Amino acid sequence: MTFEVHAQGSVHVFDCFACAIHRMAPICEHCRVQILGQGVDVDGHWYCGAHCARAEGRVGIVDRV
Ligand SMILES: [Zn+2]
Repeated sequence: MTFEVHAQGSVHVFDCFACAIHRMAPICEHCRVQILGQGVDVDGHWYCGAHCARAEGRVGIVDRV
């Protein structure tokens, strides 16, 4: 019951979603949580949401809820 995750030209094989998340999910550069949803990419820096992006001085980022 394995599955593949294709990302940035590489193929990663996992046997559970928890392992795939642990290995593949980006980490918020402010609060260090693993980003499981969309997250925010600002100039190559990843954040879990607009709040953390603003806390790191990024401007113009708005949560859409
Ligand atoms: Zn965060």
